[in-house]
Amino acid sequence: MSVATNIATFEAKLAGTAARLVVVTKTHPIERLREAYAAGARIFGENRVQEMAAKQPELPADVEWHQIGQLQTNKVKYLASFVHTVESIDSRRLLLELDKQAAKYGRVINGLLQFHIAQEDTKTGLTLTEAEALLQSAEYQMLRHVRLTGVMGIATHSPDEALVRGEFRQLRQIFEHLKAKYFADKEDFREISMGMSADYEWALAEGSTLIRVGSAIFGSRG
Ligand SMILES: *Cc1c(COP(=O)(O)O)cnc(C)c1O
Repeated sequence: MSVATNIATFEAKLAGTAARLVVVTKTHPIERLREAYAAGARIFGENRVQEMAAKQPELPADVEWHQIGQLQTNKVKYLASFVHTVESIDSRRLLLELDKQAAKYGRVINGLLQFHIAQEDTKTGLTLTEAEALLQSAEYQMLRHVRLTGVMGIATHSPDEALVRGEFRQLRQIFEHLKAKYFADKEDFREISMGMSADYEWALAEGSTLIRVGSAIFGSRG
């Protein structure tokens, strides 16, 4: 199957749902990204800062670049001029650095709070307690160049539907709790980024608004 066919298949699946497709382009050469763009994809996800920064000037300006992998604060400066959304906000330090670097360009960067929902302890993310402490802090109230637009999570890599769906449900409950308590009047806080090639159907069933799909579109990463 070609990249274009695969993207068309995903778009057809998402038609009539509230969810959008993040095409995960990490490790793939620029020609594959151009194919995806030609097929209509506009949201691209990368997990390495240098790779995203190298690809960004090669594609049209209306691509929304999403950082989906862990982001070190000392690398924020390489993406602050163009990144649309950082999906992997997992610390107060990172949030403050994003604000500082975005201010230099007079921009507002969207951010998702990443939560630890998987059983595997290798996957990073905040706990609800940590996120609430952050949202209640005076520092957070002062930020003008980062706009929180939702939450993100990575489920356990497992064929166990009940387990994986339970984790997605937990993320959705976290979203709803935060929405009601801190963002009730903020229309922009609306994203639940969950679901990858192996589990996006379960994520959609649990209310995902952004699925992040790589290998189901491009084949496996070499
Ligand atoms: C690589 C990656 C994806 C896409 O994974 P696939 O299994 O190739 O669809 C999604 N989310 C994150 C955070 C990733 O790092």
